Amino acid sequence: MKTMTNRKIAYVSITEWNKKVMRWIWISIALVLVIQVLLFIFYQPVPGCSREEYWQTFIVRPSIMIVLEAVCMELIFRFLGNLLGERVVTVLFILMQFVLLGTVVAVHSSVSYMCMILTYPVIFANVYREKFFRYVAFAMCIFVYASITYGLIPSTEFQPDNSREVYLVIFVGFTLVAFSFSKVLTSVVVNFEQENQKIHEEKEKILEIAQRDSMTGLYNHKMFYDKLNEQLQKCNEEYHLSLIIIDIDNFKKINDTFGHAIGDNVILKIVSLIQENIEEEDIAARYGGEEFGLILAGKGEMEAYTVAERIRRAVEETSVEGVTGKITISLGMIEVHPKDKNGILLFKEVDEALYEAKQTGKNKTVCRGWRKGKDNEYAYCNFGSSGIKKDV
Ligand code: GH3
Ligand code: MG
Ligand code: MG
Repeated sequence: MKTMTNRKIAYVSITEWNKKVMRWIWISIALVLVIQVLLFIFYQPVPGCSREEYWQTFIVRPSIMIVLEAVCMELIFRFLGNLLGERVVTVLFILMQFVLLGTVVAVHSSVSYMCMILTYPVIFANVYREKFFRYVAFAMCIFVYASITYGLIPSTEFQPDNSREVYLVIFVGFTLVAFSFSKVLTSVVVNFEQENQKIHEEKEKILEIAQRDSMTGLYNHKMFYDKLNEQLQKCNEEYHLSLIIIDIDNFKKINDTFGHAIGDNVILKIVSLIQENIEEEDIAARYGGEEFGLILAGKGEMEAYTVAERIRRAVEETSVEGVTGKITISLGMIEVHPKDKNGILLFKEVDEALYEAKQTGKNKTVCRGWRKGKDNEYAYCNFGSSGIKKDV
């Protein structure tokens, strides 16, 4: 499927659709020929006409004409497409459909409802997004019908009183042709659906790329704040919320000593340990180069502290190929006050805790939380680190 213009997305491009209709025309010609031969073999459809005359008038001559017309249509497609452009070729294509179907109606003027096939091109034209083609098809349909009715286009003079069986066979023919057309239309709809599905999947992929850090697969900085703001709206007296910020200790030294590639492996290892130690509802993000933010949904300070320490210990106990010596991290942690809705200010608070962890020897978690003062106002303060709690 291709787009028609910048403005409009077509269900199917004009050229694609014309090709499908052309294919359908060939199938229909074959189907109709088979039905005509069957009629010829089993019935005497036009009693006033000899079998020889019938064979020539209704089968051989019209079939040759129709095949030649269809060949003309194919040639228009193949050789004039680039020369005349899609629009002109499409108008010619619609015109040729009427020449072809007009031939069928003129030859079989004895079949009273044969003129109904002139409506096919009008139906086909409805698939084009541009109204212009529909008007062209509609005008041509009326014109060709009127021309046959008023004798402008010559038709066979036979007016037989056909038997019910003959009409039944002709009706079956119509139905078969309509059935084959519906298959063409269905394939267009299926294509459209598949294209839609592809666009949807690509949209999801792009969204994923925009939200995630490509190296670790964690949410990126922007998503960290989006998710944090989302959680801050939920946070209240019952729904606790905590934040953890993690920074790798002496990471510059790791890079300088073992190289950047090993440094990357250290980051990836720590990310996997973080993921192993948080729950599904918790949100992990790569806040910066070697800094990670965790949003612990529904967790108060004790639970958050437990998670932080679990991660810290796991890192302390891990090893990464190519790195000698311990790898450690420092963590700042905070439980959010239910009234606090400002993500950026909150991050500054948790950063204070991380700062203290770095200043007081690293490889530790510093807990920060809100406490009520004498004036009943709340304020954040650091109240402990790595299990050694102190009261404030
Ligand atoms: P501190 O213990 O105080 O945190 O010291 P530090 O050396 O870890 O200092 P800092 O946190 O400022 O380290 C940041 C370094 O992390 C600088 C940068 O070269 C490195 N870094 C950032 N992103 C990446 C990355 O994706 N891969 C690698 N290998 N290094 C990175
Ligand atoms: Mg850092
Ligand atoms: Mg660091």
